[in-house]
Amino acid sequence: MGHPAVKVHIEALQPGSALLAEQVEAKLKVRYAVVLLVAVCLSMAAIAIWEAWNSRQYHLHDKEVAMSNLAQTLASQAQSTIKQADTLLFTLVDRIEKDGMGPAPFTRMQALLSAQRSELSQLHGLFIYDENGRWQVNSNGASMPNANNSDREYFIFHRDHPDRGPHIGPSIKSRSTDEWIMTVSRRLNHPDGSFAGVVVATIYLSHFLSLYDSIDMGTNGAINLVADNGTLIVRRPFKEADIGTSVASGPLFTQLLPHASFGTATIKSVIDGVERVLGYRRVDGYPMVVSAALNKDEVLAGWRQQSLNSAAIVALLLGFLGVLGYRLIRVMKQQNHVQSVLLDAQEKLIEVNRSLELLALEDALTGLANRRQFDLFMVAEMGRARRSQTGLALLMIDVDHFKLFNDHYGHVAGDECLRKISAIITENIKRPGDLAVRYGGEEFAVVLPGTDYVGAFLVAEKIRRAVQLAGIEHTEGAEGVVTVSLGVCAYDPASQARVDDLVGAADKALYVAKASGRNMSVIAN
Ligand code: GH3
Ligand code: MG
Ligand code: MG
Repeated sequence: MGHPAVKVHIEALQPGSALLAEQVEAKLKVRYAVVLLVAVCLSMAAIAIWEAWNSRQYHLHDKEVAMSNLAQTLASQAQSTIKQADTLLFTLVDRIEKDGMGPAPFTRMQALLSAQRSELSQLHGLFIYDENGRWQVNSNGASMPNANNSDREYFIFHRDHPDRGPHIGPSIKSRSTDEWIMTVSRRLNHPDGSFAGVVVATIYLSHFLSLYDSIDMGTNGAINLVADNGTLIVRRPFKEADIGTSVASGPLFTQLLPHASFGTATIKSVIDGVERVLGYRRVDGYPMVVSAALNKDEVLAGWRQQSLNSAAIVALLLGFLGVLGYRLIRVMKQQNHVQSVLLDAQEKLIEVNRSLELLALEDALTGLANRRQFDLFMVAEMGRARRSQTGLALLMIDVDHFKLFNDHYGHVAGDECLRKISAIITENIKRPGDLAVRYGGEEFAVVLPGTDYVGAFLVAEKIRRAVQLAGIEHTEGAEGVVTVSLGVCAYDPASQARVDDLVGAADKALYVAKASGRNMSVIAN
């Protein structure tokens, strides 16, 4: 349908590439919007988590610092409490070793011990034992001639260790007063250096506990005073069963103290299994460690509440953003859908238009180009011939005595005849650039680009003979078969001739052919 030279004009009716690009861009926009929405939501969640984590670290650090300071204060307090008692012991040892051990010096000493004990409120008592563990003197005045403390840990320690320094023993219940006490002791030597006994100062555990209990440690905080070997001397909260137990296997002794004599950490207690934020410090000059620890759950309770509140707000915002984003994306998708439906419709319309355009260029009866296409084609080809200075020939063909054919055989046969002649014309023009046209009624035209008079005349004759040889019966005609007459003219690209001039010239030649007896080709002069 339609000659290529004419089709070019029609096929220009394509769906706009700008529209297609717009559709692709709209789809990309939806994708960007989804990516943006997801990125914003993820970023918000990440920032919230990061903030919560930072705040948690800050809370823990804050309490670690507080516990470290508290441990420092408590270590000083323990050190000064013990130092006071130990200074007394040091003086006593010196005195006993100089004065000797016997009833007379001990009587004098009895009064001294009582006086010194009443000076220091933390002091439960001062005791002197001989090398067999027998009570010699005690600050409380009561003489217990049969009492023997050779089974006490401090006695055994000094008996077996020549060391002259102070010794902190495990906390014990006093045999004299039934109160919980800790012992600080020193060894007594005979002049020859052999073991002569022990001097002991006992300190009320309640002295430490009253201080520890006055500190706000929450409901599950702990303060421990522990001997260097891991034995618990005193602990808040106080439980008799805990005193004397060993925490040497806990992380404080296995992981922290080997590296630093003070510090902070978050560790699990070996005593009650509670995880605590802890500050610890060795007591200067005495083999003891103080630790102060707050329950981690309590430390983080405030943070937890705050984080939950923040999380709720962020979740609310995310939900709001998600709903908004979802709606926006849905609207964008709907718009895209509408756009693509419109584009489809437009494509279909253009397709239909193209078909209509092509149909409008065709003759319905013969399938040849119609007059409209002929006009377009002639204008295009004459322009091309002018530009390239090449020839262009036109044949006008008219069926001879066709009125008689119609009258005799009827219109249906006439139409059939016209179709046959169209086919013959088409068969006899071989070049792809040529165009066969039904010019109107029983008149045809053939346009032969790049062809001169001679070539055109040869084609005209070929057609004329072929029609005659087809032998379509026409008893009313001169030859007994259908024949055609042809007028041939050629276009001179140098001339100013227009389409009408060319058609007129070919028509004239055709008239001459008719007048000269029909069934012939005549070249226009
Ligand atoms: P001449 O040899 O001088 O050309 O004589 P003619 O009878 O062919 O010329 P005329 O112009 O007098 O008649 C043309 C006839 O062609 C008239 C009409 O009946 C017939 N005709 C025109 N178009 C059609 C068509 O589409 N179908 C049919 N069947 N006949 C047609
Ligand atoms: Mg005619
Ligand atoms: Mg005719």
